[in-house]
Amino acid sequence: MPTAASTTQCYDAETVRAAVLAADARKHERRSRAAKKAAQTRGQHRQRRIQCIAKQAAARNQTGQRQRCCVCGKRLSERTSRRGIGSECWQDVLREVEALLQPAG
Ligand SMILES: [Zn+2]
Repeated sequence: MPTAASTTQCYDAETVRAAVLAADARKHERRSRAAKKAAQTRGQHRQRRIQCIAKQAAARNQTGQRQRCCVCGKRLSERTSRRGIGSECWQDVLREVEALLQPAG
């Protein structure tokens, strides 16, 4: 009785290998493109949140005590939870606040 492998052997191994490699390459390219786009979008969203928070900070509105960073959502430590912004995002928020407080021109 013929096995499934022997009945479907109508392509030579080299052709199959090439096709599989090409498909893998296309898949990799697709994923890589999607990941790049996602990183870019995340960056834009983060920047928008920072600008919004900086505006509030410049207007002396506190974000209030939080469990998670209001920019990136990472869990906050005891020390950073009071300001509601993690240390990684804090510098970016400060920079944005300084830019906002700087007189134009
Ligand atoms: Zn953060």
